[in-house]
Amino acid sequence: MNVFATRKLPEEVVDKLKQQVTYSEWHSAEQPMTKAELLEAVKDADGIISVLSDPLDAEVLAAAPNLKVISQLAVGFNNIDVGEAIKRGIRVTNTPDVLTNATADLTFALLLAAARKLSAASAEVREGKWQSWSLLQLAGKELSGATIGILGFGRIGQAVARRAKGFDMNVIYWNRSKKPEAEQAIGATYHELEDVLKQADFLVIMLPFAPELKYLIGAEELALMKSDAILVNTARGGLVDEQALYEALKNGRLGAAGLDVFEQEPVPTDHPLLTLPNVEVAPHIGSSTVATRMEMADLTVRNLLAVLQNKEPETPVN
Ligand code: NAP
Repeated sequence: MNVFATRKLPEEVVDKLKQQVTYSEWHSAEQPMTKAELLEAVKDADGIISVLSDPLDAEVLAAAPNLKVISQLAVGFNNIDVGEAIKRGIRVTNTPDVLTNATADLTFALLLAAARKLSAASAEVREGKWQSWSLLQLAGKELSGATIGILGFGRIGQAVARRAKGFDMNVIYWNRSKKPEAEQAIGATYHELEDVLKQADFLVIMLPFAPELKYLIGAEELALMKSDAILVNTARGGLVDEQALYEALKNGRLGAAGLDVFEQEPVPTDHPLLTLPNVEVAPHIGSSTVATRMEMADLTVRNLLAVLQNKEPETPVN
């Protein structure tokens, strides 16, 4: 069986794979493959280990006639044409659960950083602009007693809610299905989308990306929000209209934002959002703790080998 990984993987992961399959991988741990390189590399593959920047569309799947499994090293899989994979009898797997806590932590890190202006505070110290104590120096926004609105109340959304409760926040959420058990266990209440937007002091987006959710948060939705509200997106860039977000933040119609994800990644360094002092950013590192990334790699390998051995994978998408 031939397995191709679209990123260089850690040695211990590769060693495990090499005991069972003929393994090859892209030479870089960071640089993505071009479409042309991907089309060439998957020709003989029975299995692919993929990451979220790989466009595994109908053309790539057609270029891999032996393909049996795509094992995605992420929980989100909007880069994969799952419908086409089903047509071709290709199993798709992902890595849910193991990254929930790490991603909820990073979401909260961005939320706190935006609330307390941490990038600006750090710059003030490093650049020698810290003169003395002053009453409203870098004065931020309080979490305790504030309302957090969570869009998408699945695994990570609920983990964010549990953290918010630890900060004495009032938790409301919107999701396509109501979650009565989680509501009760966590102490959260369901509201319609419009109400969540209106009530939230902090809005956290924790939905998967799907075409029908593109620009779920645009100019109209931002206009409903409180003018000092803070928006945090650690889900997918395409859920938010970045131009509308930029205008709202620049014109004082929204307080601040914390962003781990962008419509185009890596986000271009001349992106207007990066010119704003009230935006905290990270390079899509939601799940990036050593422990979580190694668990994700392990689960990815277990899923891949299970399918190649005609067994049921632990976390299938299809
Ligand atoms: P999940 O458990 O599947 O939760 C997603 C929630 O969104 C579910 O409750 C689902 O509702 C809801 N939902 C789906 N489609 C919807 C729609 N059209 N309208 C309203 N609600 C909808 O997924 P998760 O593990 O929490 O992950 C969520 C997303 O976070 C991933 O898909 C990924 O894109 C992103 N993520 C980002 C990072 C990062 O590094 N920044 C890391 C991990 C994940 P139901 O319960 O009714 O299905």
